[in-house]
Amino acid sequence: MTVEKYIGAIDQGTTGTRFMIFDKYSNLVNSCYKEHKQIFPRPGWVEHDAMEIWRNTEFVLHKALQGAKLSLTDLKAVGITNQRETTVIWDKKSGIPIHNAVVWQCTRTSEICESLKKESLEEEIKSRTGLVTATYFSGPKIQWILDSRERFRLKATKNELLFGNIDTWIIWNLTGGIDGGVHITDYSNASRTMLMNIKTLEWDDELLEILKIPQSILPEIRPSSDSEIYGYISNANDNGPPVSGDLGDQQAALFGQTCFESGNAKNTYGTGNFLLMNTGNNMVQSKSGLITTVGYGIGKKISYALEGSIAVSGAAIQWLRDQLNFFEKTEESEELASSVTDNGGVYFVPAFVGLFSPHWDVTARGTVLGLTRGSDKAHITRAVLESIAFQSYDVFRAMEVDSKVQLTSLRVDGGASKNNLLMQFQADILGIECVRPKIEETTALGAAFAAGLAVGFWKDLNELKEKWAIDRVFSPKMEEKERTNHLHYWNKAIQKAKAWIESS
Ligand code: ADP
Repeated sequence: MTVEKYIGAIDQGTTGTRFMIFDKYSNLVNSCYKEHKQIFPRPGWVEHDAMEIWRNTEFVLHKALQGAKLSLTDLKAVGITNQRETTVIWDKKSGIPIHNAVVWQCTRTSEICESLKKESLEEEIKSRTGLVTATYFSGPKIQWILDSRERFRLKATKNELLFGNIDTWIIWNLTGGIDGGVHITDYSNASRTMLMNIKTLEWDDELLEILKIPQSILPEIRPSSDSEIYGYISNANDNGPPVSGDLGDQQAALFGQTCFESGNAKNTYGTGNFLLMNTGNNMVQSKSGLITTVGYGIGKKISYALEGSIAVSGAAIQWLRDQLNFFEKTEESEELASSVTDNGGVYFVPAFVGLFSPHWDVTARGTVLGLTRGSDKAHITRAVLESIAFQSYDVFRAMEVDSKVQLTSLRVDGGASKNNLLMQFQADILGIECVRPKIEETTALGAAFAAGLAVGFWKDLNELKEKWAIDRVFSPKMEEKERTNHLHYWNKAIQKAKAWIESS
């Protein structure tokens, strides 16, 4: 008899698909990654080939197992995390998608969203789903695909189609596809469709009617992790391990960072930033343009979260590297910024595409302020790194105001979280500890945690907390006076960046 010792996690992201194998101590045993094609049929439109994504998923799964000399039967369970909102519609009988997947970044639904706004449905949508009316979300993408060909509508009315986000598409295929694949999603993914009522946690009949979507194509909404399992991986010879965890990528990172209490938050420092704060069973409606979302649901127990994002963070470091040629590698930004003791009075606002939450000004543009004859590359680099921390500060303060919950700890991940100067400054400006975990792949770890929890591989949330290991803790050291002074100048810089572009 083989002893099942491992948990597998499929991390299906916007650029590629990864399979990771973890042991009981949450050590990474092996992983495999494969990119897929980005399809741009028109400016602003983004598609993926869902069949390619499914083939890549199978490929990385088997390759990672092979590399570790393991087989499917060595896995106790498999969890999935995925790029959110991306929309696949496929034929139930053939298992073939009727259209390329319409990706979350795709703006083809701008007209649909505009008409929802014109009909004054924004507030209604927000109170039912927690979401702002924007092109990201799946509902309008489904409507667009179904309306793109008459025969698609006809097929939908004849009950021949299925819809899924990428989690649903992969789980359906993993568990048998046309041979009895299960058609499910979890609360966290469903909360990004603009079709689930965030209070009842069910598909909302009125929204389905507004967006002309037949309920028959929608998956069943299930917990993100539970004592029951969704289905089993089918392979040629035998039934494989259970699929038992499902979380959208940002929520998986929240879970993988073990942010289980109200007030726990994570900040992912990538090209842009994604900030999520657990608000427990408190479903907070934001007044600052943040999104209310389901963090995760263990059985029927739901943890809600507030979500904010920053459009330009690590991208500003790339800008210093590529446009201004300040350094060759982004990691060199730390050494350069550390070569001066402070920013020398220089403040930078990376409003390259305007300012989002909580400032909301599309006419704002990037600014460098406070330059003197003595300012040099190092001061500007330091100001750019600091701007990432200031922007995060603004979003977290907005979350605190909205939720009346105080931020108690911040867990960090993503490429730019490797920058120690930035992390120390973040802790100083927020006045709380910033904690960086050993396992950087918090998204995949979150999916593994959810799957392992469901099958008793890990007992409970407390055990998961024990399995989560710290790389480094950054404690606040800055004097209050200095902190207040920094925030004063940052706010001044924000005001200067605002209302720059004038309509012609
Ligand atoms: P994404 O998932 O958005 O592609 P990653 O998590 O891979 O992003 O992080 C990449 C981003 O992090 C880039 O924008 C890069 O400029 C920034 N970055 C990576 N390492 C560092 C570093 N040591 N210091 C500052 N920024 C960094």
